[in-house]
Order: sequence, then structure tokens, then C-alpha cells
Amino acid sequence: MEAESASSKRRREDDDADVVFSETLPDSIEYSFDADINRLTKVISACKITMSRQSEMIDIVSRLQATFRKSLIQRRVSQQTADIASTLADVQTALQSVTAKLSATEAAPPALSYAQAARSKIVEKVKVPSGKSVAPVPRSTVVIIPKPDSPLKTADETKTTLMKVLDPQKYGLRLDRVTKTGKSSIRLESEKSDLTKIPAAILEEAGLAIKLQGKSFPRLSILDVPRNLSPEQVKEALVSQNFHDASDQVLHLANEHLKVLFRFGNREGANCNWILEVHPEVRRYLLASRRVYVAWNACRVNDHIRVTRCFNCQKYGHHSTNCKSDIQCGHCAEKHETKTCPNPDRDPTCANCVRFGHKGDVVKHKATSNTCPAYLKRLDAKISNTDYGL
Ligand SMILES: [Zn+2]
Ligand SMILES: [Zn+2]
Ligand SMILES: [Zn+2]
Repeated sequence: MEAESASSKRRREDDDADVVFSETLPDSIEYSFDADINRLTKVISACKITMSRQSEMIDIVSRLQATFRKSLIQRRVSQQTADIASTLADVQTALQSVTAKLSATEAAPPALSYAQAARSKIVEKVKVPSGKSVAPVPRSTVVIIPKPDSPLKTADETKTTLMKVLDPQKYGLRLDRVTKTGKSSIRLESEKSDLTKIPAAILEEAGLAIKLQGKSFPRLSILDVPRNLSPEQVKEALVSQNFHDASDQVLHLANEHLKVLFRFGNREGANCNWILEVHPEVRRYLLASRRVYVAWNACRVNDHIRVTRCFNCQKYGHHSTNCKSDIQCGHCAEKHETKTCPNPDRDPTCANCVRFGHKGDVVKHKATSNTCPAYLKRLDAKISNTDYGL
């Protein structure tokens, strides 16, 4: 018992000594190690004689011990340095091999980070089917409709009535466009004035009502998505494999306002294209990413804005399956099917431009033309009725 407690006491003293030694490591080890050993030998032989020699011995031993520790640490450090150097060499070899493989494959266009692209102009414009990019102009839009008990039956009557009761000068209105929409309603558009400020009371007296026009969310096309995925799986992959550097808000919007609508074109093969409807911020993020990842595919993403044109009558806004108009040719505007047109060698005549009152060379194009003025006007209206978050 006695011996044990004595030894444990000694161990504790040693521990205390360790702490002291570690704090007094000599910075320089220039003094001679051998000389100290010699002195130590002499001191030890003399230590029984005087107390001062005893303290000198303790001093020398502590320096020796510190020196030993320091060299030990240096050895460990140099060992670690060797390990790090060897790891670095491995990393360098791996990098060289990756670089070689990368330069062997064709370089993909560099993906902009979301922050970079958000600053760039690419998402401030809308890519239209002709391949051009159009800058959408934010406009205030309202629709004026006759009240249910109103005798007004046509859009022209509604317009005439509105012009009688509403003085644009009086209300500081700067109208850019007044168009018919539907049978008896008209749409007003303005870049510079807030049309929601038109006093409802004035309209009401004339049997009119104001209808605020909610804009639609923009659509995007996603090309080369694996065909075997359901719309739900496409959405799941889009949300989980993309949006890595998106804000929480954009991620939330992607969860809430990203609809996988329908397939588009590309009817064969392992991949297909999808049309999405997304919140403006989600559009901005996805277009800025340039490519989106769905399962194993990196898919191109683009604006998808289309004006619906009927194959039967060439008018806009409905499909031939719902057509209630007479047939009209997309080449010569006469009353027959486009594909059996008997006048293929004649200059084309655009059915829509003729209908809108254009004359001469202005109408000399097919109804399918990307530069048709009637089509461009319709496309512009479509862009202006889409919410690009401007
Ligand atoms: Zn039609
Ligand atoms: Zn024809
Ligand atoms: Zn035309």
C-alpha cells in the first residue's frame, strides 16, 4: 500500500514536470548535446555533495528532455511532410489524367453560375421561335367588358362607349394599344400608365366593367429527357438534381410552381422533350443554368412561347380540332386545304394579313411565316401577357 501510493505520487510529479518541460522548450539547440551529457555524468557523481549541484543537474536533465522532445516533434513533422508530399504527388497524377481525358472529349460550353448569369442579359430576353431574342416590355393591361345587363354586344360597341366616357387626357392615361379580345371585350395596354387606376365608377355608369388581367406563367422546353420518366418523375428529378446554388425562396418556388405540362416534338427514340410552366424566378434560374440535369441526361432548356394557329382556317387562338370557321389555305388564302393547294407556284398570300386589312407586298408570305406582321403582333401580345417577373 505504502509503496503503491509513493509510486503514484511520483508519477503525478512526473506529469507536472512534463507540463513544465513542454512550456520551456529551448528555441535553440546550438549547445552541445555531448557536452551536457559529460557534464551530467560529472554532476551526477557530485550530486550527493551539494544542493546547488543537484539543482544544476535537474536543470541539465530538463534541457536534455526538452531537446529530445523537440527533435521528436521535428521528426514527426518531417514524417508528416513526407506523407503530404506523397499525397500531393498522387493528386497531381490524378489531375493530369483527368485533364488529359477532359481535353480529349469535346469541351462543353462553360456553365455560368447562377449569380453570374443572373447579372448577364441572357434571361432578360425571351427567345421566340424564329430564334430571335425579344426583350419583353412590362405593360399595364386591363380588359374592359360590358356588364351582364348591358345592351353592348360587340367589341366595337364597347370601344365606342368607352371612348365616350373615358377621357385619357383627364386621367393622364398613355395608351399604347387598344385591341379586341373576345366577342364584346377590349384590352387596353400601357407602358407608362397604371391602367388599374381607371375609376370604376365612370365605367359602371356606361354599363362597363374592368377586368384585371392575370398574366400566365412562362413556359420552358426541356430537350432530351429520358422518355421512360413520368411527368412526376421529371419534376422530381428537376427539383432534386438542380437548384444547388438557388436561394431557399427559388427552391420553394420550384417545388410549388413548376408544372410538367406535356411532351413536345421528338416522338421517337430514348429521349423526348417536355414543356414546363414555371414561376418567373424559376425560369430565370433554369435559363441561367443553361443545362438542367434529369436522371443521366444534361438537357438544354429554352423559352417556349408559341402562338396557336389553326391548320384549318389559319386564325390564331384555337386548334383545327375546335375550328368553327371556313377552311382557308395557308399558302394562297383561298378556300381549300393547304396541302392540296392548286396554286403552289403563285406568290403566297397570308390569310391573316388579308383579314387584318393589310394589302400589297405586306401580305405576300405564307400564313406560317415567322415574319408575318399579324403573327408578330400576336406573339408580342402573348409575351406581354406572360409574367416574366419584370
Ligand atoms: Zn380554325
Ligand atoms: Zn391555296
Ligand atoms: Zn401575314
